[in-house]
Order: sequence, then structure tokens, then C-alpha cells
Amino acid sequence: MEPSRPSRPSTAFLDHASDGIRRRIREAESLGSKMTPGEDYPGQAMLWSTAALKAESLAVDLDRLLRDLHENPELAFEETYAQTRITQLLESQGFPVDLGVHGVDTSLRTEFSTPLYDAAIHPTVAIMAEYDALPGIGHACGHNVIAAAGVGAFLTAVAALKDSQVQGRLVLLGTPAEEGHSGKEYMIRGGMLEDIDVAIMIHPFSYDIASHAWIGRRTLRAVFEGVAAHASSQPFMGRNALDAASLAYQGLGLLRQQMPPSDRLHAAITDGGDRPSVIPQRAEMSIYVRSLYPDTLRDLSARVDEVLEGAALMAGVRVHKEWDIHPATLPIRNNQVLAHRWAVTQELRNRIALPAGVVPESLAASTDFGNVSQLVPGIHPMVKIAPSGVALHTEAFAAYAVGDEALRGAVDSVAGLAQVAVDVLADPSLAADAAAEFAAEGGQFSVAQGLGLWPEE
Ligand SMILES: [Zn+2]
Ligand SMILES: [Zn+2]
Repeated sequence: MEPSRPSRPSTAFLDHASDGIRRRIREAESLGSKMTPGEDYPGQAMLWSTAALKAESLAVDLDRLLRDLHENPELAFEETYAQTRITQLLESQGFPVDLGVHGVDTSLRTEFSTPLYDAAIHPTVAIMAEYDALPGIGHACGHNVIAAAGVGAFLTAVAALKDSQVQGRLVLLGTPAEEGHSGKEYMIRGGMLEDIDVAIMIHPFSYDIASHAWIGRRTLRAVFEGVAAHASSQPFMGRNALDAASLAYQGLGLLRQQMPPSDRLHAAITDGGDRPSVIPQRAEMSIYVRSLYPDTLRDLSARVDEVLEGAALMAGVRVHKEWDIHPATLPIRNNQVLAHRWAVTQELRNRIALPAGVVPESLAASTDFGNVSQLVPGIHPMVKIAPSGVALHTEAFAAYAVGDEALRGAVDSVAGLAQVAVDVLADPSLAADAAAEFAAEGGQFSVAQGLGLWPEE
């Protein structure tokens, strides 16, 4: 008999998705194409050209930085090498750096205020830089490129402001521990956003997208507690915890048909007993719950709670639920006013920053920038450094996170982020429009607020 093998997953769906993306890219106009760059306010053209020149002049330093981080990948909360390396670059340019700020040891912060900056009237823009990697596959999410883009954008925006009369403040925040954790949520709780008006960063990808969907994510550990018994001689004296876990697993599977298409459930049974001859007294599940909006995330969480309770009831066991072992990440709320401005900056660099929907929302993951974007107006555009369709968190993407395309993506991001940052400070109508959109979308929504609405907490 032939040994059985896993069947090979078909690529048919992905092929159709790619065809659709290609067709929509051909039809899409850049979000920025209806605007004239350099004419939003007096002095913009000069600020933008200074930023573009400075971005190019940093290319050698940024290439070294992104290569160096790529060769020395570090996991969440362990990013001391990246922290030191970024600090060296900033200090060599005259910016003192604070390490371990806002409650996370491997974070960093530096800032620049213009000479007449007044906190009461002038805004503050935060530029964020991630730098953690993944176990086994290194910088397969390209956070080394994010670091180079963020640091470069800060230096570039400062250079542009120094040449101008514009007043305001720029903050560079090194935000570690994005992968599998919620570093930014810890930093938010440590006051990271207290004096921030707008937050911006980029993420490398295999498409240029001004406004991409990132869905919220909660984690849940469920421990079922039953009664152990001899499985042969006295099974009727047991209450089987594995039965409850197995029923919950089936229940979550059946629930999927009733979920909105953008919701996701992932579950693993991480403990299911030790021996067939003993009715398992204990079973444990690890579950991720994801959804596209904060309130749909809350709704799905409530359904998951009910499934677990129902499974426990059927098996006659107790269930202990521990939600948000790592703080929840919320869906990204992309600020369209700022996303449009971003798209103009990229069009000048021959990149069409696609609007939402060209790349399907279903190709979505989660990020802790979601939590930031629900508290202050923000953008998290995607910048193409790999051939279309190459997925994040793959060895293939890790290979594209260094080299000419990665550097080009970083330099284009440096210019774009710096141009958006100086615009927020220099163009009062941009900041006001971004704030008005944010308020119209419901204003601030924090994890703490959201959790208050969720059951059993
Ligand atoms: Zn990632
Ligand atoms: Zn990432």
C-alpha cells in the first residue's frame, strides 16, 4: 500500500484572487491622482523637495541598518541589538535616545521640537518603527525595513523642518514586540500616545496599498476541569475534560458558517490528557478570535464564550476562560485624509498606492498598530518590496526584506512618511480634516474600553 500523504492544497482560489487583484490594479487610480502635489499650502513644494533629497542622502545608512537587522533577527521583547543599532544611528546624527520607555524594555524614543514649538497650539506627529523578527524565519515580516523607514523618516522630517518656519514636534517611537504580542498596547498603557496627535508608519508587502485592512485579534486560553476515573472499570465516575474540549472544537467549527466572512477563528487543543485508560481530568485549548471591527470582535468573542460554556455543560465539566493573555489587538482604522496625502507622496515616486478593496480584505492579518489607530488618527500603508502575491511570514518574503527593492521601498517610505509628517505640522487644514474624520468614525476606542463591554471580564 502507498503510504498516505497530506493532499496538496489547490492554488485555484489564490489564482483567482491574484487575477482579480491584477485586473483591479490596472483599473485603479492612485488615491492621490486627483491632487496636485506641492500646492496644498504655501511652502509645501520646498518642504517636500528638501525631504526627497534628504531621503536619498540617507540611503547608504538605511541600507546598512536594514541589512544589519536582517542578519541579526531578534524575537519580541529581546530586541536589544536592534535597539542599540538604531540608537547609534540616531545619536551619530545628534539625537539623544531614551531606552526602555513607556513600560517596554526594548523600546526607544527620541524627539525634535522646532524653536518656537508651543504644546498648547502646535501638533505632535509620532513616527513608529518596529524591529522584531519571527522564530525560525527571521525578518519574514520585514520589520527591519520598517525600522529603516521610521528612523529615516524622522531624520528626514527634522531636516525639512529645520529649513523652514513651520512649528511643531516630531517623535520617533521604537515599538518592539509586534509579532505574537502587543508591544504597542503595553506602550499605550505606559503613556506612549498621551501627547501625540497623529501616528504614522509603513509596513512592507508585495503590493503598494494606501489603506489596507488589518483585523483585530484576541487570544483565549480555555481550561476544562473534569473528574478523572479509570476508563475501563469505572468510566461512569468520570467527567471527561477532553470531551468538552472536543465538543468546543466542533462547536467553533460549526459556528464558522454563521460568522461574517471577515471573522476568523483558530483553535488548538494543547492538552487532551495523557493515557487512554484515564478519563482526562484536564484539557486545554488555545484560541484566536479575529474580526474586522471592534464591535464585531466583541460579538464574536461573546459567541465563543457561549460555545465553550455549552461544551462544558454537555460534558459536565467546568471551564475557566482567560481572555487576552496578551492584550488584544484592534482592527486598523485607516485615516483616509492622511492616506490620500500618503498616496500623493508615493505617486511622485512612481508608486500607485492602491485604495482599500483592490487587494481583498480577506487577505488580512492583525497588528498592534490597530490599537494606536483607534486612539489617534493614523496610517499604516503597505509598501511593495516583493513580487505581487508573495505572502508575509514566509521564507520568500524574508529574502525580499533585504536588497535593492527593500532599500528602494525604505527610501520611498522615508520620503513619504516625512512629507506626511511635515504636512500635518505645516497644513492646519490637513490636521483638522484628519481629526474630524477620526471623530466622525466614533472617536477613541481603547482596548480597555472595549474589554469593559465584553462578557466575563
Ligand atoms: Zn508579521
Ligand atoms: Zn509585520
